[in-house]
Amino acid sequence: MQGRSTQSSGRNRQVDDREAVEERYRLDTQIWLTALLATLFASVCATGAWARGWLNRDGALAAFLLGWLVYFAGTWGASFTLLFFFVTASAWSALAEGSGPGSGLDHNAGPNPDTVASPDHGAAAGDGPAPARHQKPVRNPRPARDPSPALKPSPRRNARQVLANGLVAALACLAGHIARTLSPSLTRPDLVAVAAWVAFTAALAEATADTWASELGRRFGGRPRRLTDFRPVPPGTSGAISPVGTLAALAGASLLTLVSVELALAGLFPFLPAPAFAIVAGKAAVSASVSGFAGTLVDSWLGSRWQAVYHCDHCGVDTEKAFHRCGKSARLYRGLHWLDNDMVNLLSTVFATVLGLVSVFPFFTKL
Ligand SMILES: [Zn+2]
Repeated sequence: MQGRSTQSSGRNRQVDDREAVEERYRLDTQIWLTALLATLFASVCATGAWARGWLNRDGALAAFLLGWLVYFAGTWGASFTLLFFFVTASAWSALAEGSGPGSGLDHNAGPNPDTVASPDHGAAAGDGPAPARHQKPVRNPRPARDPSPALKPSPRRNARQVLANGLVAALACLAGHIARTLSPSLTRPDLVAVAAWVAFTAALAEATADTWASELGRRFGGRPRRLTDFRPVPPGTSGAISPVGTLAALAGASLLTLVSVELALAGLFPFLPAPAFAIVAGKAAVSASVSGFAGTLVDSWLGSRWQAVYHCDHCGVDTEKAFHRCGKSARLYRGLHWLDNDMVNLLSTVFATVLGLVSVFPFFTKL
C-alpha cells in the first residue's frame, strides 16, 4: 500500500490520521468528563441521602455505585429518572414513618414509637413486640401492639434494599450504553436503544409503584387484604393490597414513566436517539408503565404466597428475618427461606423488565 501511494494521498492519509487521533482524544475526554461528573453526581446523592437519614452506610455505598453507573451510562435522563424514584420513595417513607401511629389503624394500643422510628432495618425487623399475620395469639405476650413495624423495613435503607430496587435499572442503562457503542454493527440499533429505555423505565416504574403503594397504602390505605385470598391482614404486611395502595402504584408507575419519557424526548438519554424515540414514545411509555404496575402485582403475589416468614418462639412473634432481634434465631414456618423482602423486590423489577422487553418487540416494527 505504502509504496503505491502518491504524495497527495499520503498527505490525505496524514490528515485522516490526525483527525482520527483527535477524534479518539475527544472521545477519551468525553468519557473521562462523564466519569468525573458521574462521581460528582453519585457522591452528592449518596452523601445527601445518608445525611438525611434515608440510607445507612452500606446503603449509601450501594447508592453511590448505582448512581455512578446510571449517570455514566445514561447521564442526565437516566439520573433524573432515578432521582425521581429515590426522592419520592424516601419522602413517602419518611411521611409514613413520621406519622407512625397512623399505621396503627385498627390496633388500639398504638405502636411503640421506638420501634416505628428505629433507623436500622436490621434492628427494626422483628423488633417488635409486634404480632403479625399467622401468629398464634396465645403465644403473643403483648397482643395489642401494632403489628406493622415488625414486618416492615424502616426508612433508612441498607445496601440490599438499594440494590433490590435499583440494580436492574442500572444494568438496563448499562446495556443501552453498550448497545450504543456497538450500534454500527447492530442491524436495528434504535430498537435496541428503545428496548433498553423500556427495560430501565419499567424496572424503576415497578420500584416506584411498589414503594408508593406500600408507604402510602400503609399510611392511608386502611386495612389491606392479602392478594392470594383477600383476607384482611394488618397494614404493612408483605403482599397485602388496598385500594389506596393500588391507586398509589398506578400513579407512581405512570408518573415515573412520564418523567422518563419527557427526558428521553428532550434527548437527555445519550444512548437513545430522540427522533427515533419520538416515533414510538407513546407505545414505549404504555409498555414501561403497564409492566411496572404489573410488577407490583407480582410483588404482592410473591410477598403473600412465597416470601419467608419466621416465627420467634422465644418472643412468640412473627418476623421476616431469620434472626430475631432478641438474639434468638427464628424458625421458618412459611415460604421459601431465600425469598426475603429484598429478593421479592428484585424479582419484581426483573419481571417488570422482562415484560417490558417482551411487549416491545412485537409492536415496534417502525424501528
Ligand atoms: Zn425473639
